[in-house]
Amino acid sequence: MSICRGAAGLRGGNPRGIFIHNDAGSQNANAAFYRKWLQTHPLENGFAHAYVASDGILYAEDDAYAAWHCGQTDGNRNYYSIEVCQSMGDLEIFKKNEENALKLAAQKCKQYGIVPNTNTIRLHKEVFATACPHRSVEIHGGTSGCKTYFINKIREYMGMDKLPDAPVVSGGGSSAASGDPGIVFTYGVMLTDGTILPFVNNLSDFAGLPGRTIAGIAIKVNKGTVKYRVHVKGKGWLPYVTGCNWSDA
Ligand SMILES: [Zn+2]
Repeated sequence: MSICRGAAGLRGGNPRGIFIHNDAGSQNANAAFYRKWLQTHPLENGFAHAYVASDGILYAEDDAYAAWHCGQTDGNRNYYSIEVCQSMGDLEIFKKNEENALKLAAQKCKQYGIVPNTNTIRLHKEVFATACPHRSVEIHGGTSGCKTYFINKIREYMGMDKLPDAPVVSGGGSSAASGDPGIVFTYGVMLTDGTILPFVNNLSDFAGLPGRTIAGIAIKVNKGTVKYRVHVKGKGWLPYVTGCNWSDA
């Protein structure tokens, strides 16, 4: 039986993503502290699945159960939650805890087939009026810098490429300011076994699956035309193509 005894109920499926928190705890708020604290305080005050601290990781709740960690129903029910502990304490210890938390996140992503992107790796402050994860946000250049850092670190620990840089939309002048979505790139990839994965618009998601080789790519745009070519690892560039066609180069 877990420390938190399934208090928030069964999820009824695998986690769809991960929330990473900072505990706003002192140097003394380590795993041993939380083990005791969670058993002497009402769980309604909030708890996470895992507490990552200088003395190790406390797994307070089993993965199959929800946790009351973010004050939002979807997040509580459908996401795995990790507390980076001692976030008011020593910076170097906090950074080490954060690194171990992101390694744990990578392990959980692999286990549940979660692709780390902006939809799956979440910050508490995205869904609730809180500064959490305050210390991570402070040391990684603000909210979006922190989120990008988390996603790319987790991807690195999984052996994946980084997310592409923020999209640059051109051709529409001040398209972003006027609310015009600008040019929409739609692209999809085909795996070596011929499976074609769903098309993705701009950078709303990531095309591909971890550990699967991409055998083909097709791109289209909603305005104008797009010319693209593919680099084959170890072999060089294929000719340019302009169609969204699985049969061309
Ligand atoms: Zn939080």
